Amino acid sequence: MLKMMIGFFKDYFKYKDEVKKQKRWIAKFTTQKNYALNPSWMMSTNLEIWLSEMEKTFGKRYCPCFEPSNDEALNKKMLCPCEFIDDEIKEYGTCHCALFGSPDLDKAGWKASSDRLMSEYRVPLNLKNGVLDTRGMPKDSRRNLAVPDAMHQLKSTLNSYNQKQLSMIVESEQEAKNLEKIASFRGYTYSKEPKDDYYKVNLEF
Ligand code: SF4
Repeated sequence: MLKMMIGFFKDYFKYKDEVKKQKRWIAKFTTQKNYALNPSWMMSTNLEIWLSEMEKTFGKRYCPCFEPSNDEALNKKMLCPCEFIDDEIKEYGTCHCALFGSPDLDKAGWKASSDRLMSEYRVPLNLKNGVLDTRGMPKDSRRNLAVPDAMHQLKSTLNSYNQKQLSMIVESEQEAKNLEKIASFRGYTYSKEPKDDYYKVNLEF
């Protein structure tokens, strides 16, 4: 918990200007659409930090909950605010990431949505002897993308990982490419080994 808090404030100061920029378009958007912003400052700021990080890593403001896919049409739909927002607000009261929600959602409703989101990401990871096998995670029904995807599994692993090297098994070349972009942005050493039906990515921190 302490490590996560320190990480949050480190990122907050690192992305302070970008977060301000995100807050500006978000304020305009919520007014135009009559949506509410997640009332938890920490949760909404965290999502604004992740949006900024997505923009810096992948060049576009992709949804912070999903890494880009190899389907350009789907990627376009995943630019925040994404094309799924209206549908998801109707279904859960908030969008998938719980950044935006219905204006009449009460505290319990926001909490239920944030809990739903957290439960999707707090799943046991398949990490053994420095190898993280990211395959086999459930798929989001609207986007048909894994939750948590390889990028989020890496982030979760690093919250409590103390080794200098990590290997990751990913199903697709796109995931391997995404990890290369993350490694380049974060200054990790990266190499990739194509196998018969998966890719092995080696990272050094
Ligand atoms: S789910 Fe929410 S945060 Fe994610 S892209 Fe859609 S609107 Fe943005």
